[in-house]
Order: sequence, then structure tokens, then C-alpha cells
Amino acid sequence: MEGRGALVTGGGGGIGSAVAARLLEAGARVASLDLPGAPVPEGAAGVPCDLGSGEGVRAAVAAAEAALDGRLRVVVHCAGITRDGLLWKLPDEDWDAVIRVNLGSAFHLLKACTPALRRAGEGSVVLVSSINGERGKFGQSNYAASKAGLNALARTAARELGRFGIRVNAVAPGFVETAMTRDLPAEVRKRAGDETVLGRVAGPGEIADAILFLASDLSRHVTGQVLRVDGGQLIA
Ligand code: NAD
Repeated sequence: MEGRGALVTGGGGGIGSAVAARLLEAGARVASLDLPGAPVPEGAAGVPCDLGSGEGVRAAVAAAEAALDGRLRVVVHCAGITRDGLLWKLPDEDWDAVIRVNLGSAFHLLKACTPALRRAGEGSVVLVSSINGERGKFGQSNYAASKAGLNALARTAARELGRFGIRVNAVAPGFVETAMTRDLPAEVRKRAGDETVLGRVAGPGEIADAILFLASDLSRHVTGQVLRVDGGQLIA
């Protein structure tokens, strides 16, 4: 990844910080886009932003491109939120927030990054989805719909951007030990581990390794895919 610039959204989070660390180890320069006050991975350039609006995404991408000296080649979208609740009781604002932050941001991100990647004639975009986008999840209508949308967005963007040498893939993790899952009841964590065929949930580094593969030339003929990294939690 020497000489390449990488933009990581949610770079202060569990999976995002592991991705930033992997990319830096591999020689890339990294810009971490996250909310003001979020941690900035050591060695990365921090771009404080709110990705919940098109305007916020455009300003953040411009700042990241400047921090990466115009060498943007890799885009990893890890920013995401949950607002769980039964769909028939879910407040409208919880539906809107999750769709906007998880899915809307990805559309604006792809749109804002495409000109730079087209100019470079190469690029790899990885959207962090979830197995719940494929199987659905009790209490997560907003989250599951946002992740299903990311899968469709990745496949569509792959079709449109392949001619410019730009690859677009999604990674769909199962349960991962991060801040997002820290406060879930112990029985939920146990059930997730029991659902896997490997008998355990993932650490963030295991998701980051798969993302590094998709970001790098090792996957140069892979595009339009949704790669499950879930210990076999969903085999279908
Ligand atoms: P995390 O909460 O540690 O990280 C999420 C990051 O997104 C945080 O740093 C947060 O500040 C940032 N973020 C949230 N809203 C933002 C906004 N409006 N603008 C900018 N940044 C914002 O959680 P994580 O587990 O590392 O999640 C990373 C991605 O992985 C998410 O998309 C999540 O849906 C997905 N995922 C997580 C799991 C899991 O079990 N943890 C499973 C499947 C998929």
C-alpha cells in the first residue's frame, strides 16, 4: 500500500481503528473521518466531521484529500450506528438517523470520492455491512435495512465504476467485540458465538484483515462482492 492514501470513516471506532492500523502497517497514509472528539488512530490524520449529511461528507472528503496530498486510492466506510427497537414502536427519528448515518453517508461518500479515483484510474472502496442486512434481525429493522442497502449500493457502484478501474465491495461481519456491542446482554453475546460454526465471535482485527485484503491488490479481480466475515454465523 506504499504511496497510497486511504480514507477510513469511523476511524475512531473498534473496526475502523483496526483498519487504520492495518493500512498504516501496510505503508498507506490514512485519513480518519469521525465525529469531533472521537479518538484518532496513531499515525493517521484526523478529520472531525458528521457524516450524517451530504454537506458534511463533501467537506470531510475534501479535507481528507488534502491531508492525503491528492493520493486517495482506498475508501473504507466503517462509520455506523444502531438505534434498536421493535419496528411497530420505533420512533421515526431512529429510523431516519440509522438510514442517514449508515446508508446515506455511503452514497454521499461514493459520489464525493469518485472524481479523485477516476482521475487516478484505480481505487478500492469497501463498505462495512453486516450479516443482519441479509438475514434480518429482531429489533433492528432500521439497521438491517441500512445494511441491505449498502450491499445493493456496493454491487451497483461496482457495475458503474468498474470501467474506471475502481472496485467496490462490502464486508459483512457477524458479531464483533466493539463499543457497539459492549453493552449488549451477556446472553446475546453467547447466542452469537453459539450461532457460529467456529464457536466464537470476532475481534475487530479479524474484520480488518479481510478489509485489508479487499483494499489491496491481492483482490485486484474481486468486485461487486459481499464478503461475510462471521465465523460461519450465517451460512446460506
Ligand atoms: P463503533 O461504535 O466502535 O464504531 C463506529 C464509529 O462510527 C465510531 O467511531 C463513531 O464515532 C462513528 N460514527 C458514528 N456516527 C457518525 C457520524 N454521524 N459521523 C462520523 N462518524 C460517525 O462500532 P464498530 O463495531 O467498530 O462498527 C463499525 C462498523 O461495523 C459499523 O458500520 C457497524 O454497523 C459494522 N458492524 C459492526 C458489528 C459489531 O458486532 N460490532 C457487526 C456487523 C457490522
